[in-house]
Amino acid sequence: MKKDYIIIGAGLSGLNTAKKLVTQNQGDVLILEKSRGLGGRMATRRTLDARFDHGAQFYRKKVDLFSLHDYWRDHNVNQHWFLSDEGDHWCGKWGMTSLAKTLGEGLSISLEKEVQSIHFENGLWKLISNKNEEWLARHLIITSPIPQTTKLLGHLEKEKLLNPHQWNELKGITYTKALIALVTLEGPFSLKNGYVEFQEGDFFSISDQYQKGVSPIPALTVTMSALFSEKEFENEEAMILEKILTGLKASYPEVKIKNAELKKWRYCRPEKQLKDYFFEIAPKLYLAGDAFGGSSLGGAVRSSESLCRHLLGEADEK
Ligand SMILES: Cc1cc2nc3c(=O)[nH]c(=O)nc-3n(C[C@H](O)[C@H](O)[C@H](O)COP(=O)(O)OP(=O)(O)OC[C@H]3O[C@@H](n4cnc5c(N)ncnc54)[C@H](O)[C@@H]3O)c2cc1C
Repeated sequence: MKKDYIIIGAGLSGLNTAKKLVTQNQGDVLILEKSRGLGGRMATRRTLDARFDHGAQFYRKKVDLFSLHDYWRDHNVNQHWFLSDEGDHWCGKWGMTSLAKTLGEGLSISLEKEVQSIHFENGLWKLISNKNEEWLARHLIITSPIPQTTKLLGHLEKEKLLNPHQWNELKGITYTKALIALVTLEGPFSLKNGYVEFQEGDFFSISDQYQKGVSPIPALTVTMSALFSEKEFENEEAMILEKILTGLKASYPEVKIKNAELKKWRYCRPEKQLKDYFFEIAPKLYLAGDAFGGSSLGGAVRSSESLCRHLLGEADEK
């Protein structure tokens, strides 16, 4: 199967890149995504009776997100959540994944395809999946978190196919981890705006998914700090969850927990941003994502927009 463009990853970077290329009639564009759904770190999980965003909670309508914000508004899938000193916070009406799903409509996306190796053959990029399927691409765009990307590219570096300077820069990119408790409650919980962020301690944030309008019943997403998450990440899950719930009850004695489950992000946010908005690390092999544009949804868009401008031969701003 020969494609003009193959994009690895159906997170916001990959989806936005594909949408732009297809809109500009750039030929056959295929996204390969290893998981069962779209969105990457824009993730929504439904349990028996509740619904939780357990990756990105919101976006802010900054310059990079203007056009996507309008697109989501026109498709009636976004909603205003709250206003704080930092500005307006927006989210998906049915969770953040609904924003990704809308962006993915009409695109060619193959789910549950984990790319395991990449080779350069006769001027084309050859990809092989965990199920031994093969694709050929004239252009290859990789949007996975950098440690996953470098794992895929390691042997190309040994074959001296990659830009050594860029390869060295990639090796310096590490990510924070995140441990998340998805907590279903017996009754409503009162949190100003439905969201709080902590400057210190074990918690990073608490989001009320019911007030947010994502869950039909009271439910909280409790995101632990980078420090707590790093320290506890490899410990037994039941023990981690117990620690989180004990801390939650100590801070909010009124909270009535019905049930809870743990979610883990090994790659939450890049700790450092690369100087460029994307790399062309070998001929027609591009890397993009939030490590390039900045560690947020806006950063993922910034990187993918810059890459698209390059591919479409338009002038860039950086
Ligand atoms: C807990 C948490 C909270 C956050 N909160 C916010 C927030 O409130 N606001 C905000 O702006 N940002 C937030 N962020 C950051 C934001 O979610 C990310 O910056 C953004 O989603 C990154 O998008 P991306 O497309 O670059 O990467 P990703 O979303 O990670 O997409 C990469 C995709 O590649 C796929 N993939 C990886 N390897 C392969 C492979 N070998 N084959 C096929 N597919 C592969 C992955 O499954 C994934 O879908 C948060 C992140 C986390 C984890």
